[in-house]
Amino acid sequence: MSKPKKVTPLMKQYNTIKAKYPDALLLFRVGDFYETFGEDAVRASGILNITLTARNNGGEQTPLAGFPHHSLNTYLPKLVMAGCRVAICDQLEDPKMTKTIVKRGVTELITPGVALNDDILQSKTNNFLAAVHFNSRAGDRLSQSAKIGVSFLDISTGEFLTSEGSPEYIDKILQNFNPSEVLFSKQKRKQFSDTFGDNFHVFHLEDWVFQKDYALETLNKHFDTQNLKGFGIDHLENGIIAAGAALHYLGETQHNKLQHITKVSRIAEDEYVWMDRFTIRNLELYHSNHQNAVTLLDVIDKTISPMGGRLLKRWMALPLKSVEKITRRHEVVSYLLENVLVLDKMQTNTKRIGDLERLISKVATGKISPREVIQLKNSLEATVPVKALAINSNNESLQIIGEQLNECETLRNKIKETLNEEAPVNILKGSAIANGFHPELDDLRAIATGGKEYLNQMLKRETERTGITSLKIASNNVFGYYIEVRNTHKDKVPEEWIRKQTLVNAERYITEELKEYETKILGAEEKISALELEIFSKLVTWMLQYILPVQQNARLIAEVDCLSSFAVQAKLSNYTRPLFDESTDLDIKEGRHPVIEKQLPPDNPFISNDVFLDREHQQIIMITGPNMSGKSAILRQTALIVLLAQMGSFVPAKAVRMGVVDKIFTRVGASDNISMGESTFMVEMNETASILNNISERSLVLLDEIGRGTSTYDGISIAWAISEYLHEHPSHAKTLFATHYHEINEMTETFSRIKNYNVSVKELKDDVLFLRKLIPGGSHHSFGIHVAKMAGMPQVVLNRANKILKRLEKSHSSEELSDKIKEIAKDDLQLSFFKLDDPLLEELRDEIADIDIDTLTPVEALMKLNEMKRMLQKNGSLSQKK
Ligand code: ADP
Repeated sequence: MSKPKKVTPLMKQYNTIKAKYPDALLLFRVGDFYETFGEDAVRASGILNITLTARNNGGEQTPLAGFPHHSLNTYLPKLVMAGCRVAICDQLEDPKMTKTIVKRGVTELITPGVALNDDILQSKTNNFLAAVHFNSRAGDRLSQSAKIGVSFLDISTGEFLTSEGSPEYIDKILQNFNPSEVLFSKQKRKQFSDTFGDNFHVFHLEDWVFQKDYALETLNKHFDTQNLKGFGIDHLENGIIAAGAALHYLGETQHNKLQHITKVSRIAEDEYVWMDRFTIRNLELYHSNHQNAVTLLDVIDKTISPMGGRLLKRWMALPLKSVEKITRRHEVVSYLLENVLVLDKMQTNTKRIGDLERLISKVATGKISPREVIQLKNSLEATVPVKALAINSNNESLQIIGEQLNECETLRNKIKETLNEEAPVNILKGSAIANGFHPELDDLRAIATGGKEYLNQMLKRETERTGITSLKIASNNVFGYYIEVRNTHKDKVPEEWIRKQTLVNAERYITEELKEYETKILGAEEKISALELEIFSKLVTWMLQYILPVQQNARLIAEVDCLSSFAVQAKLSNYTRPLFDESTDLDIKEGRHPVIEKQLPPDNPFISNDVFLDREHQQIIMITGPNMSGKSAILRQTALIVLLAQMGSFVPAKAVRMGVVDKIFTRVGASDNISMGESTFMVEMNETASILNNISERSLVLLDEIGRGTSTYDGISIAWAISEYLHEHPSHAKTLFATHYHEINEMTETFSRIKNYNVSVKELKDDVLFLRKLIPGGSHHSFGIHVAKMAGMPQVVLNRANKILKRLEKSHSSEELSDKIKEIAKDDLQLSFFKLDDPLLEELRDEIADIDIDTLTPVEALMKLNEMKRMLQKNGSLSQKK
C-alpha cells in the first residue's frame, strides 16, 4: 500500500483557493513571486516564455512557473491577450506579523472583457464585455421575431448600453461593438454558436443569473433606484436581463467599486442606419478582408484624443437617420473649415487632453496613481480654452457644447494645492504631496532631507578627525547605515567604531551616532509614506463627486474631436458637404472611393464618377463591364459616401444631394467567400434572401456579381429574378447591381426603372484600356481573357481560351441564351410577384410569403418546393411528370 500523500499547508491553501476559480489561471503570491502550479503553470510558461520547473508535492512532481511580483504589469496583459482569465491571489496580511501560514485571497479576476490595466487596453478602442440573453419562450429554434437581449459594458470607461431585438439585429450589433468577451447562460451554448458563430471569446454563467427579478434587483441596487424608468429601458425585458448579467459578472470578478457606471442607456436602433454584418464586412469599415489592407477608419480617423477615437468608431457603426441631427454635425464641420484658426486652436488644446473617461474611471475603482491625477488636472485645464472657443464660435451646436463643458475649477485647484506637479506614479516614493499642503509632512521632510545634509557633515567631520581620505557612508537592508573604510586605512579606525562586515577590499563599521541618526530618518520616512498615502486616499475619495462632470466633459471633447477630425479630413482630401432633402434620391456628382483614391500612385489618379438613383425613373442600375474595370469600386464608394454623409462627415465628391437612407445592404457574389470555406452558393442565397425580406423605400441595395457562384444559366436566372423582384417590390429600393453577365442588359426592355450602364473600356488590338468611367448603355461581351492576360497567364493558355470563346460564341450557347432571354423579357405571361389574381397563385404567394428563409434549411426548402409542386399538380396546372 502506498503511503497517503502529504500535502504541504501552502499547497493545501492553494488547492482550496484554486477550487473556487477552476476556469481561471491562478497567480498565487508567495513572497516576492507570483507562482502558478499544475496545468496553470504549463499554460503560463507557454504563453509567457518563462521556465517551467517542478516542485515536489508529497511525492508527486507538480509543475511550477513563476515571475517576480513587480513584473505583473508586463506579464498580465500577455496572459489576458492570450484569452486567459487571470485570478490574482495576494497575501492579505503582512507575513512578518504572522507565525502561521499567511492569509491569502483572490483580490481581482481579470478577464478579456473586464480589464482596467492600461497595458491591456487600447486607447482608441473600447473594451466591451457583452452579455446575451435568449428569451426561452422563443423556443429552441429562433424565429425572426424572437427577441434576444444584449448589453455592453466597458468597465474602463463606465459606458453601459443595452438593447434587444431579432437574432439578425443582435448579430449586427455584436459585430459593431466587437466585445472582448461575451457572457451567456450555460444552457444556451448551442443556441449561441448556432446564431452568432464561434468567433467570440465566450464565458458561460449559471442559468439563474438570467432572471428578470434578479436582474432588476442587481441594477436597482447598483444605481440606487426603485425602477429603471429613468433610463428609458424598463420596457426592454430581455435587455434588462442581459444588463443585469453583465453587472453581476463584475461582482463575480471582484470588481465592486463601480461608481463610474452612472447609467445604462438604450441603443436606439431605430435612430440609426441599418447595416447588417455582411455589409460592415464588405465595406471594410474597421477590418479588411485582406491582410494589411487599409480600412475606411484608417483613412478618415484624424481624431487626436482617445475618447474621440472611440466615439468615431461608434459614429461609424451607428450613422444617423435624422436629417436634423446630421445637419447639425455638418454645420459644425462647415464652421470649422471656414474658421481654420479656431480649428487649429481646438486641436492644439485637444491634443493636451488625456483619456478623461478612463482617468475618472480609475478614480472610481481606486486605481489611479498620483501622476494620473496630475494628468487629469492638466486635461481639465486644457478643456478651458476649448470651452471658450466653442462658446465664442457663432455655431449653435458648438456653443451648446461649450456651455455644457464643465471647467471643474474647484477640482483642479484642489489637485494643484494637494499634489506636487511632478508627482510620481508610486505614492510610496514619498514626493507626491505638494510642499506647504500639510505642516506635519513638511516637518518630517525637513528631518529626512536635513538628515542627509547632516550625514554629509558627519562624513566631513570624521574624515578630518581620522585622516582617512576614502571614507564612505552608505546603507543597506541588513545593517542599515554604515561607514566603509578601505583596507589601506584599516589601522586608522577609531576604537569606538563597531565592525559589522568584512569585504575583500574594505571593512564596514557602525557608530553610535549613525544608529541614532538612522532611527530618526527611518522614522521620518515611514511617517512620510503613511501620511502621503492618507492624504492621497482622501483626495481620491473627495474626487468621486466629480465623476459625472468629468464624464460629461469626456463625451463633449470626444464630439468636438470627431467633428474636428471630419473638418481636417475634408480639408486634406477635398471633401464636400452633402445636401439632404426630403426626396428619396441619391445624386452623386464626381464621387470618389475614399480608400482607393489614397492608394493609387500619382501618375494613375482616381477617376471620379456620377451616380444617380431615384424611385421613379432610375431605380436599378445594371453595371456591366469586364473584371477589374472598377464596378465594385463604384458600388462601394456609393455606400461609403452615404455612410460618411449620415455620420455627419463631408464626402469625397464634387457634390451630393440625397434623401436620408435607412438601410444599406451589400452582397458580394459567392466566389469571394470561397476562401472562407462556407457552402458558398448557399451563403450567397441566404444573404440575398435576408435583403429581399427587409428592404424599404429608403434602402440602398448593392449587389456585386450575385449569381456568380454557379453555372452561367443558373447565375443569370438568379440575377434576373432578384432584379425583377427588386423592381416589382413596392418599396422601389434604390439598387446598384454589378454583373459580368451582359445578358442581363435585356431586362431594361421590360422593366422601366432598370437602366444599363457600363464601366467604359477602350479595346485595343490585343488588350483593353480601363477608362473607369461609368457611362450609359450595356456592354456586349465579357473580357475575362484580357484580365487573364494582365495577370500574366502564359500566352498558349490565352490563345486557347480565345479560340474556345469564339467557338462558343458562334455555336449555340451565347446566341441561344440571348434569344431565350429576349423571349423571357417579352413574355406577357411573366410571373409578376405582386399582382396575382389567380386564386391558386395567390395561395402559392401566401405560402412563399410565410416562409422564413433565414431559418429554412436546404432540406426544408426542397420539401416546401415539393409541396408547392403538388399543389399545382392537384390543380391540374402541371402535368404529372416523373
Ligand atoms: P471590378 O469590380 O470591375 O472587378 P474593381 O472595382 O475591383 O473592379 O476595381 C479593380 C481595381 O481597379 C481597383 O482595385 C482599383 O485599384 C482600380 N480602380 C477601380 N476604380 C477606379 C477608379 N475609378 N479610378 C482609378 N482606379 C480604379
